[in-house]
Amino acid sequence: PGEVTADQVDSLVPHFPLCARHLHNVLRKEKHLRHFSRLQYGLFLKDIGLSVEEALIFWKRSFSNVNDDKFNKEYRYNVRHSYGLEGNRKNYKGYSCQQILTGPQLGPGDAHGCPYRTYSLDNLVTALTTLGITPDSSGCREVVDAVKGRHYHIACTRVFELTHPQKGTLEESIHHPLQYYQLSTGRQ
Ligand code: SF4
Repeated sequence: PGEVTADQVDSLVPHFPLCARHLHNVLRKEKHLRHFSRLQYGLFLKDIGLSVEEALIFWKRSFSNVNDDKFNKEYRYNVRHSYGLEGNRKNYKGYSCQQILTGPQLGPGDAHGCPYRTYSLDNLVTALTTLGITPDSSGCREVVDAVKGRHYHIACTRVFELTHPQKGTLEESIHHPLQYYQLSTGRQ
């Protein structure tokens, strides 16, 4: 922990699974994330090594339309809370795929959850294209078939393999966003 700075987050996005990429992209576009989205992404960033000090810098800068006063009143506490520094002082960990898949349903404007489940198939194919997986390739079909069978973690595992050919076939399937990041970066 503590090895990732606020400045480095954008450059690490290529190592993120689709759930964290989506949250990051929505944050950059909207300059805001709603509660559950903040929680899911904030804990993922904590997992990959963003300290509470860097997290406060990251969120403050990312919410660029929010003034200092409002940030300190409405968001600072929640960031510190997820690092165990406020309230019940529980040192939260990032959610597993299972927790994300069974977590709160999406409301309007929400960005949390697992994109293999929450995206329409059209949006998923578009997202895969941005990762370099072309729409009519056999890889794309395998991912779509896994999603249609509701095997979301298999879809995510296949996407990892297709986008990291040098790493070969994974011995175990993806069950945690942190695991995806660690396998991609080689950082444990
Ligand atoms: Fe994220 Fe897990 Fe879904 Fe992959 S399967 S996108 S790591 S929640």
